[in-house]
Amino acid sequence: MGTLLVKNGTIVTENELFNGDIFIDGETISIIDKEIKVSADRTIDALGNYIFPGGIDAHTHMELPVMGTHSSDDFITGTTAALHGGTTTIIDFANQVRGDDLHSTLQKWHDKAGNRSLCDYGFHISVTDVNEDTISELKNLVEKEGVTSFKTFLAYDAMKLDLGSLERLMIEVKGLGGIITTHTENGKMIDALISKHIQEGKLSTKYHPLTRPNTAESDAAYTLMKLAEKTGCPTYMVHMTSTGAANYLKRAKEKGLNVFGETCPQYLFLDEKMYAHQDFDIASQYIMSPPVRALSDRDGMWKGIKEGTIQVLATDHCPFMLEQKRAGIDDFTKIPNGAPGVEDRLELLYSEGVDQGIIGLQTFVKVTATNPAKLFGLYPKKGVIAVGSDADLVIFDPNEVHQIKCESRNMRVDYNLYEDRIIKGKVKTVLLRGKVAIENNECLLTPGFGNYLKRGLPDFSIS
Ligand SMILES: [Zn+2]
Repeated sequence: MGTLLVKNGTIVTENELFNGDIFIDGETISIIDKEIKVSADRTIDALGNYIFPGGIDAHTHMELPVMGTHSSDDFITGTTAALHGGTTTIIDFANQVRGDDLHSTLQKWHDKAGNRSLCDYGFHISVTDVNEDTISELKNLVEKEGVTSFKTFLAYDAMKLDLGSLERLMIEVKGLGGIITTHTENGKMIDALISKHIQEGKLSTKYHPLTRPNTAESDAAYTLMKLAEKTGCPTYMVHMTSTGAANYLKRAKEKGLNVFGETCPQYLFLDEKMYAHQDFDIASQYIMSPPVRALSDRDGMWKGIKEGTIQVLATDHCPFMLEQKRAGIDDFTKIPNGAPGVEDRLELLYSEGVDQGIIGLQTFVKVTATNPAKLFGLYPKKGVIAVGSDADLVIFDPNEVHQIKCESRNMRVDYNLYEDRIIKGKVKTVLLRGKVAIENNECLLTPGFGNYLKRGLPDFSIS
C-alpha cells in the first residue's frame, strides 16, 4: 500500500482540536503535525473541514432473522451505507438460538459477514441460554475469538434470561474481564400489556408505545443496576430511551460502578406522536422497541449525553421494507420491529447536536467513536486519531447544507425516518485503514475489504 497525506484539516479528538496534517503509510497513521512536508503518493486537501476518527456503530443488525423475515440490509449493503455515513466499524450481534452453542452462533455470523463486509466489524454474542456448556465456552470466546461483550435480554420470551441466569453470566463475564450489555425492558410488564391490548382489540400502531411504556425500561434498569452492584460486572444498557432509566444509571455511576449507557438517534430526534399517524406506511416505520418517546424522555437522553452518563450513540440499525412492515397492517404485534439509521448517525448528531450548540465537538467524537472503541476493546487501534492507529478518518464539511432523502441514501430500505430534514454538515471523504472508501458520494471499496476485529478487553478510562 502507498502513502497518503491529508493536509490542512481541523483535527478533532476527544481532548483536542487543532489544524494540522496527517501522514498515512499503508493502513496506519505515521505522522501528525502542524505541517508535514514529506511528499506522499496522494494528497487530499481538507481545508475548511473537520477530521473525525472513523465512526464506530456499536449496535447494528445486518440480515437479522426476525419474525419469519430478516432485516433488509445485509453485510454488503449495510456496511456500504455505514461507510457513506462516516462509520468505518460496526459491531453486530450474533444472536444465540436456544439450544445452539455460542461458537456455532458466532460462526453463523462469520458466514454472513466474511468476504462481504466493506467496513471493519466485530460481533457481540447475545446469550439466550445460560447453562454449563455455554458458560464453559466464554473463556475461549474472550481469549481466542475476540468477543469480549455479551448481550442479554430482559424482554422477549425467545431471548430473555431469568435474573438468576443473568447473575450467573455476569459473574463469569466479570471474571474474564468482559462486559455485559442488556436490552433493558421488563418483559413481563410488556407481555401483560400486549395481552390486554389484544384482548381489547386495540391493534393499530398507536398502541405499540402504550405496551412498552418508559416505566418498563426504568424498572428493568433499576434491577440491572442492582445486579451490576452485586456482581461487580461491567454493564452497558443498549438503546436507552427513558429519563428514569438514565437516573438509575447515573446513581449507579455515582457509586463508582462500571456502568454505561447507549442511546440512538431515533431517541433524540423523533416523536412518539408518529405512532398515531393515519397512514400505516408512515406509522409502521416507527415500530421499534423500545419505542420513540415524548419530549421529556428525549431531553433526558440529551442530558445524559451532555453529562457523560450516556457514553455512546449507536443506531440499532435494523431496517425492514414497507412491504415487510405490512405483515402487521391489522395487528401491530406482527410488525417486524426495527428501523434504519446506520448512514444517518454522524450527520444528524453533528447538525442537531454540535451545530445547534447542544454538545461540543469533543463529546461528538467521544460518543460516535472513542467511547465505543474503549468499551468494546478496539482502542487505540480504532476510535482515535493518533500515530500508530488505523487510518480510519472522516473528512467532514461543517458548512454544507443538504436534505436527507431516502433515494440518495444507500441503506436497502424504502424510507428514511428523517426524510426531508435539513442537515448542516456532510461526510465528504472517508478513509478506512488508509484506503479511500468514500469520495464524491461513491463507495470505492469492494465486498470483503472489511476485516473481522478480534476485540480486546474493555478499557473503562472514559472521561
Ligand atoms: Zn438491537
